Amino acid sequence: MRSLVIFAATLTLAAGQLTPDEQAALQRISPDSLRGNLSFLSSDLLEGRATPSRGLDLAAEFIASRFRAAGLEPAGDDGYFQTAALTIREQNPSGFEMTVAAGGRAIKVPAAESSILTDKAISLENVPVIAADHEISADQAAGKVILWTGRGHRPNLPGSAVLVLFAASVFDPETRSSRAFFNTLASADAIALIKGAKDARMSLRVEASLEHSAKVRNVAGILRGSDPALRDTYVMLTAHYDHVGMRETGEDRIYNGANDDGSGTVSVIEIANALAAMNPRPKRSILFVTFFGEEIGLVGSRYYGRHPLEPLAKTVADLNLEQVGRTDDSEGPQQGTATLTGFDFSDVTKVLIEAGKLTGVKVYKNEKASDAYFARSDNQALADLGVPAHTLCVAFDYPDYHGVGDEWPKIDYANMAKIDRMVAAGLIELASDAAPPKWNEQNSAASKYAAAAKKLR
Ligand SMILES: [Zn+2]
Repeated sequence: MRSLVIFAATLTLAAGQLTPDEQAALQRISPDSLRGNLSFLSSDLLEGRATPSRGLDLAAEFIASRFRAAGLEPAGDDGYFQTAALTIREQNPSGFEMTVAAGGRAIKVPAAESSILTDKAISLENVPVIAADHEISADQAAGKVILWTGRGHRPNLPGSAVLVLFAASVFDPETRSSRAFFNTLASADAIALIKGAKDARMSLRVEASLEHSAKVRNVAGILRGSDPALRDTYVMLTAHYDHVGMRETGEDRIYNGANDDGSGTVSVIEIANALAAMNPRPKRSILFVTFFGEEIGLVGSRYYGRHPLEPLAKTVADLNLEQVGRTDDSEGPQQGTATLTGFDFSDVTKVLIEAGKLTGVKVYKNEKASDAYFARSDNQALADLGVPAHTLCVAFDYPDYHGVGDEWPKIDYANMAKIDRMVAAGLIELASDAAPPKWNEQNSAASKYAAAAKKLR
């Protein structure tokens, strides 16, 4: 009789039902707790959590305190912290000169409107400069200065260029927070001159950059698995806790980053807290990590990739949460729905679709964003190393994206709790299934990740 009951229980689980204990775990995810944590994490006192900053350090300490309260095992090199030394570079102002010329006009660019980062002094005399908003060939770039005017600040540009500059607005938060890491030109006049002319040239004199170092931290905790065979394998749940900091002028100067990505961060905390109280715990170990430096080019997750806290070969999947709080998407309200980037890249998606059915959330493919946004968040750093990794998102594009109005009262907390319950159900399944998810080798866009996975294992 007993074995029959066990058989029946296994059957209902396979057909897609949560056990009472799993249901109880999901019910611990609370809208009020999410609101409470996010109202602190995105408060003005944390000054937009730029990498590096005191606000970022305060956020890290807060996340560690929540992991401690949940009873997670510390997984860093210093308790819950994985400490990285970051080299911050600044353009050397001494002797700086930049002139852009075209069609008989010449513009002298003030030092404050550029940021050129270099190991040794650069001296250019009348070098051709072209604007590019899409990837260009090595031949087209050879011997030229390239001014990148496309979206994002990490395009693949050939090394044959003399120098690559990013066109930036002085008030563009994304490029502002990146100025210590990317070459930027913020003179609107010079940018317009280069874009409007075919014969633009640049002369430049700049000394080697000034450098100082800063300590920044990923925050990591483990919920140790219960199965003797599977507990040494890991599922990751991640989000970035940094944002883009502050602007220099305006009544409201603080980019609070409540949705981007305070929402993902408090969701990681909430799900960790819910699953930590399960008895027995999920079979595999679950590694909860919040990253610094996403907004300056996936710096924290790349650092993790080079210094994994648990072996990547034993890390079966990473679910990365981004912008899961706002439901007022520019494409219309997004309640009870979530999507993953790289939707057809791996089996992870199927697990989340099933978790969605169990929790009343529609997990769908966003045709426009699925593949295009795969490289836009920290999942990319793990995918490059072979770990099946996706970013789960509710609203890609919302009114206050990278704006000072991205504040905690605008979050839909009831919906966020519902999404988090779905994510928790997916994590339980990923942590319970003996067969780890695989990359979809039939999809050419995923083949390089499948190859990386083979190398890893
Ligand atoms: Zn983000």
